[in-house]
Amino acid sequence: MTGRVHGSRNQASAGDLLDLVRTGRATTRGALQQVTGLSRATVGQRLDRLFRAGWLREGAGGPVDSPLGGRPSITLEFDDAHAVVLAADLDTRHARAAVLTLTGEILAEHAGPLAVDDGPERVLDELGRWFAEVLARAGHAPAEVCGIGLAVPGPVDTGTGRVVQPPMMPGWDGYDIRGRLARAFGEATGAGPVPVLVDNDANLMAYGEQRASYPDCSAFVLVKVSTGIGAGVVVDGSPYRGIDGGAGDLGHIRVPDGADALCRCGSYGCLAALASGGAVARRLAAAGVPAASGSDVRDLLAAGHPEAAALAREAGRRVGEVLATVVTLLNPGVLVLAGDLAGMPFVTGVRELLYQRALPRSTARLEVVTSRLGEQAGLVGAGALVVDHLYAPERVEERLLALGV
Ligand SMILES: [Zn+2]
Repeated sequence: MTGRVHGSRNQASAGDLLDLVRTGRATTRGALQQVTGLSRATVGQRLDRLFRAGWLREGAGGPVDSPLGGRPSITLEFDDAHAVVLAADLDTRHARAAVLTLTGEILAEHAGPLAVDDGPERVLDELGRWFAEVLARAGHAPAEVCGIGLAVPGPVDTGTGRVVQPPMMPGWDGYDIRGRLARAFGEATGAGPVPVLVDNDANLMAYGEQRASYPDCSAFVLVKVSTGIGAGVVVDGSPYRGIDGGAGDLGHIRVPDGADALCRCGSYGCLAALASGGAVARRLAAAGVPAASGSDVRDLLAAGHPEAAALAREAGRRVGEVLATVVTLLNPGVLVLAGDLAGMPFVTGVRELLYQRALPRSTARLEVVTSRLGEQAGLVGAGALVVDHLYAPERVEERLLALGV
């Protein structure tokens, strides 16, 4: 790393140094001096504040050679012991909640049925109780929580944390999710107010999976196919959301020969009405196989049910046809297929159409894979969203001053 840190400030702040260490771009005093252009003494003063806050520690890895020559340097690392983060991933009929370390390790997790159709008050209050339970199980106090991240199955205005006309979340349009979830957490635990961040589930699954499994992939796409269909895009390490959170909402693209399929959004012929876990469940039910949701289809696929497998493969072909355009536009290095439907029959169907329809140039180096984090991808992404927000250089100074360092 040879580039220096530039910004609106003249000199790199304590927050900039923390960011360089956290992202692994500079992890010794010498490397920080070199990247920022700060003097040894100034780097030392700023690091001392981060040590006093408990946000930085000397690494266990031992000294490494200094880029400036001279004495070997001690490596520095983000100290994740001073706080924990809470995350929840809300699907249409079930949810997960977890407590995570600041570096993304899940310490305790709870999963169970929870229906978004019950409306925001009941759902968010229940998540508050789940948070209290996982914290107790992990042995952490409510006061240690620095923030909450929530993944929801709908388009989110991340500026306000509100969902915008969500087809799968009746009663949630424009609702103050942040305020209610912070209050629910406070009521369940007695904790003071904490920041709450909300984003779309596919975005957060993509973010979690990219960070944990493909950190060097600069153009990354994850498609979640459960009760609905959505995609998350991560470009150069950041989620790409479009101008108002609408990027990646693939489920409501009209597809050919689907004119008589009614979608939950009220339109006919949407991809989700034909190829989602919900659509496959409806076709199975019509054929006499008991299935009401994407998770029921997941169970049937896991049990090797032949009709479910055939329908999942057909759904994969429909999704693959749309993904041919996505891949041609974005030229990603990795395409992850995730969600209830993403077993081998579905992946096979996607590959059949994707490679047939996309330009060979855009798929030559493309990996089409299933999720490594599985059902925890959204939780990991929601935790990372909170940590990246709270420890962003522009927020660090204010938070250090609040700690009195
Ligand atoms: Zn639709």
